[in-house]
Amino acid sequence: MRVARGFDVLGQAEAAPQPGRPSASRERLRREAIELARAEALIDAAYSYCLVPLDAPPAEILCAGGEKLFAPWLLPASGQLTALACGVCTLGPLLEQRVSLLFAERKASLALALDGLGNELLFAVSRRAQDRMQADATRRGLSMAGELRAGDPGLALDAQGAVLRLAQAETIGVALKSGHLMHPFKSTSMVLGIGIDLPAVQWSRCDTCPTRGKCAVVARTKTAAPASTAAQSA
Ligand code: SF4
Repeated sequence: MRVARGFDVLGQAEAAPQPGRPSASRERLRREAIELARAEALIDAAYSYCLVPLDAPPAEILCAGGEKLFAPWLLPASGQLTALACGVCTLGPLLEQRVSLLFAERKASLALALDGLGNELLFAVSRRAQDRMQADATRRGLSMAGELRAGDPGLALDAQGAVLRLAQAETIGVALKSGHLMHPFKSTSMVLGIGIDLPAVQWSRCDTCPTRGKCAVVARTKTAAPASTAAQSA
């Protein structure tokens, strides 16, 4: 298991361009949100992940670490799937609490800007975690391919509990609440295939997603530097 926290994801976001052509007021609100997040130390970014060997030969239902995941998309066209990389990322609870407070204070524009900044930061944490997973797999002479998130096409939402257990999410304070929602809300999980000579996947979980056209994650992926694998998290 690998755990990381205490890295400055806010500084990274400050330096990154916003997707699209944001208006001057959107830029101003984003700057205000960044300043607020920094002044009040609202971000406690962290991630944990595990590369979990398969308990049984790969099949449509993948067995790893005593859990079962129906994830046939991860079965490679060639090579050998030997493990699952399961990760979870979070920003901690303070940002979403501050967003709620801003709404209560009728500062909806800043609340929305802070919430949007949170999504952006979670995306950045997710990329960082995925890069570490890739480096870890490479060090072991293995390859990594594909990316699934519970609730997106390719992995049912009810797989979320198993993914969090495999990623040992409790070590960074992420737990599952009712409706398969994670707490803190600004958290995300992922599952990728690990193995020998895995080919790059020809699919993305976003391919058939009905919200792709207006998805902020897709917009950010287009403006971000290439990740080691496919698109990132919602
Ligand atoms: S388009 Fe957006 S919401 Fe749909 S699967 Fe991709 S990241 Fe998730």
